[in-house]
Amino acid sequence: MNRGRKEPVQVVCPKCRFTEIVYLPMEDLPRCPECNTPMLIQELLDEGKSY
Ligand SMILES: [Zn+2]
Repeated sequence: MNRGRKEPVQVVCPKCRFTEIVYLPMEDLPRCPECNTPMLIQELLDEGKSY
């Protein structure tokens, strides 16, 4: 483990699909700024699709 090293992950709101990048480790996943729904980690390999 590299202590103190932060990993960027993408989180997505399951309700309105708002996404943002956060850095782990963190205490809690953020809430969506749009609708205050707890956000989920979105896998970086998103079904093999490109954006
Ligand atoms: Zn939302």
